[in-house]
Amino acid sequence: MSTSDLGPDYRSASLQRLSQEQFDIAVIGGGITGVGAALDAASRGLRVALIEGSDFAAGTSSKSTKLIHGGLRYLEMLDFRLVQEALSERSLMLQSLCPHLVRPVPFLYPLTHHMWERAYVGLGMLLYDTIGSGRRGVPFHTHLSHTSAIRAMPDFRPTAFKGAIRFFDAQMDDARHTLMVARTARANGAALVNHARATGLLRDGARVSGVRVRDCIGRREFDLRAHRVINATGPWTEQVQQWSGSVKLKVRPAKGVHFLLPRDRFKMRDAVIARTEKSMFFIVPWGDSWLLGDTDTEWHFGADEVSASSGDIDYLLSKINGLAAHPVERSEITGVFAGLRPLVDAPGASTAALSREHTVVESAPGLFSIGGGKYTTYRIMARDVVDLASKGLRPTPAKSRTETIPIVGAEQYFAGWEARGEIALQYGITVETVTRLLRRYGSLYSEVLQQARSSPELLQPLGGSYPYLRAEALYAATHEGARTLSDVLSRRVRVHLHARDRGEAAVEDVARLVGDALGWTEVERSRQAEEYRQHILAERDAERQESEQAAAARVRSSLGV
Ligand SMILES: Cc1cc2nc3c(=O)[nH]c(=O)nc-3n(C[C@H](O)[C@H](O)[C@H](O)COP(=O)(O)OP(=O)(O)OC[C@H]3O[C@@H](n4cnc5c(N)ncnc54)[C@H](O)[C@@H]3O)c2cc1C
Repeated sequence: MSTSDLGPDYRSASLQRLSQEQFDIAVIGGGITGVGAALDAASRGLRVALIEGSDFAAGTSSKSTKLIHGGLRYLEMLDFRLVQEALSERSLMLQSLCPHLVRPVPFLYPLTHHMWERAYVGLGMLLYDTIGSGRRGVPFHTHLSHTSAIRAMPDFRPTAFKGAIRFFDAQMDDARHTLMVARTARANGAALVNHARATGLLRDGARVSGVRVRDCIGRREFDLRAHRVINATGPWTEQVQQWSGSVKLKVRPAKGVHFLLPRDRFKMRDAVIARTEKSMFFIVPWGDSWLLGDTDTEWHFGADEVSASSGDIDYLLSKINGLAAHPVERSEITGVFAGLRPLVDAPGASTAALSREHTVVESAPGLFSIGGGKYTTYRIMARDVVDLASKGLRPTPAKSRTETIPIVGAEQYFAGWEARGEIALQYGITVETVTRLLRRYGSLYSEVLQQARSSPELLQPLGGSYPYLRAEALYAATHEGARTLSDVLSRRVRVHLHARDRGEAAVEDVARLVGDALGWTEVERSRQAEEYRQHILAERDAERQESEQAAAARVRSSLGV
C-alpha cells in the first residue's frame, strides 16, 4: 500500500479502526466539503474518520460546471469578499496545491450592446483581474472588436454579439479532484470509507458522541465514536440534523443541469459565458466535449432522485440556439447530468439570488453542520468548520495548514511533464495519452502505468475507443477506492458523463477487470453490470419526461424506493 492509496486493504483496515477507535472528529459526507474537512483536521494532528454513504463525490461534487472561479456574477451581486476569497483560492490551486488538476481556461464574454456595456463589463473585468492579483496564475483580460470576436466564435451568429472581452478562469475534473483530496487526507492519517452510510447519531446525554454506520458493502452496522461530528452532506444536510432533533441550518436545494456536445461541434478555443434572464450560461471546452449549462430551479423532491427532465434540456437548447449559427439538435447531445446546489436558505429569495457564501453552525451539542459555499472555496469552508468543531478539544489543535499541503500527485508533476516524450517511448503510448494521464494523476501516473509492465493489454483503450486506458479502470479499484462499476465509469474515468453510450461498451470489460481485483463472484459481476445498465436506462427515461415530478419518479423507481 502506498501512503495515499484507498484500495481494498486500506478500506478493511479503516473499517476496523472506525469500529474500534475513539476519534476526535467524524465527518459525514465524502463530497469536496467533507474530504476537505478530513484533510484539514488530519493535517492539524487530529484523529479523523470520514464516512461516505455512496462514493466519494457521488453527490454535487461530480455534477458542477467544473470551474475554479471567482464568479463574475457574484461581482455584480457586490459580493466582493466571496470573489476575492475564490480568486485567491484559484491562484493557490493553479500555482502550488494542484497544478496537475487545475488549469487556466480562456473565456469570452460576448457584448450585446454598444459602448456602455463594453465600459461597464470592462470595469468589472478590471476589478476581477485586480481583486485576485496577489498571486494570479492567469493573464489579464483583453478587449475584442466585433471582427475579432467573429473570428474567435466562428460558429456563433455574428448578429448575436457586437464584440467580446476575453478573460481567464480555471477548470478541473471535479470528481477526480475530490478523490485526490481524499487521498491526501488519507496520506495525512485520516480513515476514510466510502459506501458506509450514517444511519443515526450516538448520544452521550445531550451531546452527540458519534455516528451509527452501515457498511453497505460488508452489510453490517457498527458505532463510530468521536468527540465531534461534522455534517458535510450538502443537499442532505437537513436529514442528518433531523436525527439530532434540531435543524439549525436550512438548506434550499437548487437543481443545475448541464449537457455535453462533441468538441468539434464548435470550432473555438475559448469558453463562452453569456448572460441569461436570471443568471449565466456557460459553454466550456472539457476534454473532447463542450460542457453547456446550467439551469437554476428549486428542487422539491429527494436529493437521491435528482434528474434532468425534458424541460431542462429544452431550456439549455434554447440558450445555445440563441447563439449558434446552425441550431443544435437534441440528437447531437452526448451526455446530460444534474446536480443540487446546497444553498443556505433565506426565505423569500429566489435560488439564483441566494448567497454562495457558506455557513457553519453547531446544530446540536457536538454536531456541526456546514452548508452553502462553492467548490472553489472548499478549503476555506473546511478550515472554518474544523475551527468551530475543534474548539475545546484537548490538547488544543494547531491552526489550519492546508494552504501549504500539496494535493497528492503535485510533487514531481512538472518533472513528469518535461519527460512526456520519454515516458511515451518507454511504454509505447502516445504523448497525448501521457499528457492526459499527467493531468488526471499528476506524478502518480507511474503507478497507473506500472500495472501494465506485466500485462501490456492494460495499455489498450477502455471499451475499445474511450480516451482512457484499461489500466485506469484497474487502478480505480486497486488504488482509488472504487467499489462498483458506477464508481469506475462515472467518477474515476468519466465515460458516463461524456460518452454517447454512457460507458455501456466497457461494462463487461470493466466488470471483469475490477471484479478480479475486488474478488467478485460471477453472480456479483452480472449484478453490477445489470445495475449499471438499469441506472443508465432510468436516466434516459427521466430525460424524456416533461415534468420534474415524472423525472424524479422514474429515478426513484430505479432506486427501488
Ligand atoms: C450545477 C452546478 C454547477 C456548479 N458549478 C460550480 C463551479 O463551476 N464552481 C464552483 O466552485 N462551484 C460550483 N458548484 C457548487 C459546488 O459543486 C458545490 O458547492 C459542492 O460540490 C458541494 O459539495 P459538498 O461536499 O458540500 O456536497 P456533495 O458533493 O453533495 O457531498 C455530500 C455527500 O454527502 C453524502 N451523504 C449524504 N447523506 C449521507 C449519509 N447519511 N451518510 C454518509 N454520507 C452521506 C452524499 O452521498 C454526498 O457524496 C456547482 C453546483 C451545481 C449544482
